[in-house]
Amino acid sequence: MAEPAFDRAFVASRAVVEGAERPCVVAVRDGRIAAVLDLNPADPVAPVDARDIVRLAHTEVLLPGLVDTHVHINEPGRTEWEGFDTGTRAAAAGGVTTVIDMPLNSIPATTTAAALARKRDCAAAQAHVDVGFWGGAVPGNVAELEGLHAAGVFGFKCFLVDSGVPEFPPLDGAGLTAAMAETARLGALLIVHAEDAELIAAAPAPAGPSYAMYLRSRPPAAEERAIERILAEAVRIGPARPRVHVLHLSSAGALAQLRAARAAGVDVSVETCPHYLAIVAEAIDDGATQFKCAPPIRDAANGDRLWEALLGGEIDMIVSDHSPCTAELKRRDTGDFAAAWGGIASLELGLPVIWTAARAQEGTLADVVRWMASAPADRVGLTLKGRIAVGADADLVVFDPEAEFVVDPDRLQQRNPVSAYAGRRLTGVVRQTWLRGERVDPSSAARHGRLIERGGRE
Ligand SMILES: [Zn+2]
Repeated sequence: MAEPAFDRAFVASRAVVEGAERPCVVAVRDGRIAAVLDLNPADPVAPVDARDIVRLAHTEVLLPGLVDTHVHINEPGRTEWEGFDTGTRAAAAGGVTTVIDMPLNSIPATTTAAALARKRDCAAAQAHVDVGFWGGAVPGNVAELEGLHAAGVFGFKCFLVDSGVPEFPPLDGAGLTAAMAETARLGALLIVHAEDAELIAAAPAPAGPSYAMYLRSRPPAAEERAIERILAEAVRIGPARPRVHVLHLSSAGALAQLRAARAAGVDVSVETCPHYLAIVAEAIDDGATQFKCAPPIRDAANGDRLWEALLGGEIDMIVSDHSPCTAELKRRDTGDFAAAWGGIASLELGLPVIWTAARAQEGTLADVVRWMASAPADRVGLTLKGRIAVGADADLVVFDPEAEFVVDPDRLQQRNPVSAYAGRRLTGVVRQTWLRGERVDPSSAARHGRLIERGGRE
């Protein structure tokens, strides 16, 4: 008897393919999507020549696995905040099949090739999904960037303001110029935490449990000034064209200058995060440090403008900025916004949080897939991730877009049960996650994740 043509086939009455929903059969061979076949809705049980058939329920939609390019897994060094085992389990449970790890909060920070090698050693034995790495651009390490680039990092992150950890200091003006010139020479992305140190130093300091005080300590103008500096620098540097990316945009006030820079030919992309789209400052109680992040969550009018920009294509992508810590460091006991760690852990919840909010904005699942899978994959050059297409990795998610659940932090896979979404009712449940054609069970010891490099090398 002849071998079946395919290892596995997913039969879906709804699937997001090439920017739209349609019924289809996604056939997998050797971990890749080998064919996307039309499904006759009148005859959905027609045989497919595959060893194994996964039939989705009528309520379920087949999506490409999400690509989250902004994740802090703090191993080695601060593994008690989050490690590769728990972090990638959370990713798998949330339908995220590729994560790109940020260069800071682990110790050492990923600012040398040796530090990258340590990260990789930690991740290799533990990854439940595919993991790649960003490098860091910090004062004095310009000479390290070429080696990190050659070792396959997806680009380089820098700060223009205190990062929150001493081993990852911000760049000053000359440092930014040097880092941008070097990344431009390498053809690498420079990704920037855009808040201006001087404007933040000049703002009133945060004190105690007042969220209003915390908000005033990191004004929109600080974000806008920093983005202005980056864009001006990108215009000034030549002849190589810098490729820049603005991380976690919170202030809608910066959109006009981003629009103008793009019109002028600057290669700039911009991301925002679920918490800036689904939470508003007006709803944050004093002392509720689970909502502390930087830049901060701003008011509802600002959030509406972020949604407009997203739906209008001015914001390219949504990534988690999963930045966990222990409950103690969140200072839930005192509710002190000045002392609490700034970061929101949402790797497992991004898809339902965004889907719940997008429905209210008349966004579609195809929009969500663009924002959370194909756009981030494209920007980092992962052309075989984040899409259901022939030749792509068979990274797939079975999603029920009508099912609801209430967030219980104790049931999340992340290491620490601290969540800005605790008690929230969300719509959309991840039923299954598949990585290169293999089922990922977050509660199982079996691991299918691989380490990936820029350009898709493994
Ligand atoms: Zn971050």
